[in-house]
Amino acid sequence: MNKDKRYQILSRLRDNNPNPTTELEYESPFQLLIAVLLSAQATDVGVNKATRKLFPAAPTAETMLALGVDGIKDYIKTIGLFNSKAENAYKTCKILVEQYNGEVPESREALEALPGVGRKTANVVLNTAFGWPTIAVDTHIYRVSNRTKLAPGKNVNEVEQKLLKVVPKEFKVDVHHWLILHGRYTCVARKPRCGSCIIEDLCEFKDKTSD
Ligand code: SF4
Repeated sequence: MNKDKRYQILSRLRDNNPNPTTELEYESPFQLLIAVLLSAQATDVGVNKATRKLFPAAPTAETMLALGVDGIKDYIKTIGLFNSKAENAYKTCKILVEQYNGEVPESREALEALPGVGRKTANVVLNTAFGWPTIAVDTHIYRVSNRTKLAPGKNVNEVEQKLLKVVPKEFKVDVHHWLILHGRYTCVARKPRCGSCIIEDLCEFKDKTSD
């Protein structure tokens, strides 16, 4: 895909949604970190449902630590992999309280050292809580980047590196959310809704649908 087309795609996604953000509900970097940790293999809707009760009961690392692993489990039982997620959330709270005064560190290295926090989660927190131009490639971004040819790659790391290289600076902070939302609602996995896609004329996908 050439530079000009890429620029047009990103401009159009921006014009359509100038201030995008995550659909996860949170009120602090700590709550965002926990929400992202809980969201692996779960939907944002399912996570929000659980955190609407969990966060009022334990809004900070200190209060969540006080719940204990079983206490956390009680709130997140409806989410897949809740046993290991409760363990990771508890251990993460412990580290935050003991080493960071209960705050979320604004550092990739420190974030990735937390239990259950990988590169993707760190990217989301750095981007969404701290405004870093990081791009967390999930299944939606991977699919949209490959179908459109915006940033094709054989795996999520390749797509992340390609996006970081080809996305102009002015779009870097928000591109992650535009592509996720586009993949979640328009360029859906089974049958993309090309007929109602705002970048249809620019997309280079070979098997477009008329839906
Ligand atoms: S035209 Fe179709 S394949 Fe291309 S981005 Fe839009 S929905 Fe996805």
